[in-house]
Amino acid sequence: MKKLSLIVSVYNEEASLAHFYDVTTEVLKNMDANGGEPYEAELVFVNDGSKDKSLEILSALADKDERVKVISFSRNFGHEAAMTAGIDYATGDFLICLDADLQNPPELIPKILAEYEGGADVVLMAREENKSAGFLKKVTSAMFYKLLNKLSEVEFERNVSDFFGISKRAADLVRDNYREKTRYLRGFIQQIGFKRSVISYKAPARYAGESKYSIGKLFGIAMHTFDCFSVTPLKAGLAASALSIVLTIASFIYYIVFWIRNDSGSGVALLCTLLTFLFSILFLLLGVVGQYLGNIMREVRNRPVYIVDSTINTEKDR
Ligand code: UDP
Ligand code: MG
Repeated sequence: MKKLSLIVSVYNEEASLAHFYDVTTEVLKNMDANGGEPYEAELVFVNDGSKDKSLEILSALADKDERVKVISFSRNFGHEAAMTAGIDYATGDFLICLDADLQNPPELIPKILAEYEGGADVVLMAREENKSAGFLKKVTSAMFYKLLNKLSEVEFERNVSDFFGISKRAADLVRDNYREKTRYLRGFIQQIGFKRSVISYKAPARYAGESKYSIGKLFGIAMHTFDCFSVTPLKAGLAASALSIVLTIASFIYYIVFWIRNDSGSGVALLCTLLTFLFSILFLLLGVVGQYLGNIMREVRNRPVYIVDSTINTEKDR
């Protein structure tokens, strides 16, 4: 029998976990009843350093249900690290990553599996455009994907989330070859290739608790997407220096003409404009270089992506 692994990252989700478990196990049960291809299931919960009662709740679930496996981090390492650990420990033929707050509806699991059975190695879940989303958000999102797809060699789907399914061979690839520290899993799984399919879904409101992502964190993720998948910004230096050379020549010609005519007055203004312009280029480049340097630092340090404190019911315990 084939095995399905559900990977659930958990950070302070005490209010959602029991409900999540009930809903998900119900979906799994009905899947069998509906006469689809039977799957043995495992629920790999990754406790990402929760400070509330999440781990106690997970331990209790693992006690009564053998399919529940728990990986508990020594502190909070972030959602990407949690999903990475889940993929590392999962043993299924098909893996699905989903959030514990029920914003990634477990009811969609059979639909995702159908795509896998139809031959897809990567099943991306794209959030439907929120109709009430502001104009600014729509425009920035559209610009983000346009620019990203222009600058990188991969064609990224719009609005995909951390809700996705991958086959065992895709998971093996990510597990073995994508160990870099600046992580962007939903990008990695689009970069590996293979047959890909996209399902769009409506994300409901969070079941309980509050979002752990601030605007600042989201902006950080957007920046990383670029430095993770494109080196084109590094080449901006060449374009900027070409522009500076043109400007230098222009200002030199201006200076000569000025000298020949022996006019007076606008020299200081010219100098100021030139100076501020050159400085803005300089700062821009410094910022770009800083981004990449940051990545190099993380790679060179080679710190672990996560550190496991304890595990329950995983293969490694037996
Ligand atoms: N999460 C995590 N570590 C973190 C932050 C979040 O494992 O540092 C988990 C969280 O418990 C949830 C999922 O990642 O299951 C998505 O987080 P959240 O719902 O806060 O994000 P949003 O849906 O608001 O983007
Ligand atoms: Mg959420």
